[in-house]
Amino acid sequence: MKVLVINAGSSSLKYQLYDMKDESVLAKGRVERIGTESAIVTHEPKDKPGVREVSEILDHVTAVRRVLDLLQHREHGVVGSIAEIEAVGHRVVHGGETFKESVLVDDEVKRSIRDLFDLAPLHNPAALTGINAVEQNMPDVPQAVVFDTAFHQTMPRHAYLYPIPMALYRRHRIRRYGFHGTSHFYVSRRAAELIGRPIEELKMVTCHIGNGSSCAAILGGQSVDTSMGLTPLEGLMMGTRSGDIDPAVVPFVMSKEELTLGEVNSMLNKHSGLLAISGSSGDMREIIEAMEEGDRNAKLAFDMFCYRLRKYVGAYAAAMNGLDAIVFTAGIGENSPHVRKAVCEGLSFLGVKLDEAANFDAAKEARFISAPDSRVKVLVVPTNEELIIARDTYRLVTERKRAGETAAALES
Ligand code: AMP
Repeated sequence: MKVLVINAGSSSLKYQLYDMKDESVLAKGRVERIGTESAIVTHEPKDKPGVREVSEILDHVTAVRRVLDLLQHREHGVVGSIAEIEAVGHRVVHGGETFKESVLVDDEVKRSIRDLFDLAPLHNPAALTGINAVEQNMPDVPQAVVFDTAFHQTMPRHAYLYPIPMALYRRHRIRRYGFHGTSHFYVSRRAAELIGRPIEELKMVTCHIGNGSSCAAILGGQSVDTSMGLTPLEGLMMGTRSGDIDPAVVPFVMSKEELTLGEVNSMLNKHSGLLAISGSSGDMREIIEAMEEGDRNAKLAFDMFCYRLRKYVGAYAAAMNGLDAIVFTAGIGENSPHVRKAVCEGLSFLGVKLDEAANFDAAKEARFISAPDSRVKVLVVPTNEELIIARDTYRLVTERKRAGETAAALES
């Protein structure tokens, strides 16, 4: 079965086509600047010449049509016909408390995603637009949705509630949800495989650190705490997001600087984090380069980033009463030995000991970077959220097919 994975943003759409026979990626690409006369389409088929074109793409329906055209293109295509694509899986950021796992799309599911617009005003509408765009182009193809929040739905109440009036939770479902769930799920399973022990026996902290960053406490394979909250603003310091601050900063800044709510929101999401402290960049690679050239603000940003992450790892070790493994993933986690070193150096009291050479080895595959005698294993595991979306979609569609066949057999 061939499964198309789609990650739709408000003005972009990323895609990967999987052949589930061997879970290989047949093609991937993206459409950017949707809604303009100069949208950019990048298509990378396996073993064939790629495409980069600029054209007018005014909506997601047209974007999906262009992607489907490219997938079956004579020169750049990877399928004989679109009919070979038997299922489509979508990434949806917020599943609220409604979705504890991936599901097939129907009208009820679409309604629920719409009901969650308030909780993810930028992301959920884009995902729904993507689902509708696929429906218009491929009306008979089943679609599945995989939620960033679903994996964290196992958090206990004492971890997900905020100590604010309970009426706010009852009326508006204000609580911690957590994000990057698909990534935390994938890397924790892959790490357990590498460690060679059942995940049910392990206590892990997974650190998904990229432009957006979060870490999770994974006890026996289940998420029991995570650093992001009601929105992806809480928790770790990020590229341009503040992460944890005293909530009183908000009214204080609003009054002192005469800012509106929208302006404070923008300050905390777009003008904080590494960017605010370094004064030059929200990109960790650039921070490290500047730091190595002697830029003291960049060094402060780097130190704060690593210090805050280290505190979370320590807190989660306490939350789980122990720690067997730390897993690093995403842009910074996979590529920055400097960050991994700075985080782990302060965790020797827990039994964390890095292998310096392994940490600085630029290998791309999943691997250990802890010393052989480190009590806590430390791993780098490249994340693969698309693969989990493809797998869940494949499983759900196959289960429904089987159920349909069984029902038909019983009737005949
Ligand atoms: P992501 O959001 O997962 O794509 O991660 C983006 C972040 O990863 C940016 O801050 C990049 O600077 C960072 N990154 C990527 N490669 C490196 C690298 N070699 N060293 C340090 N940071 C990196």
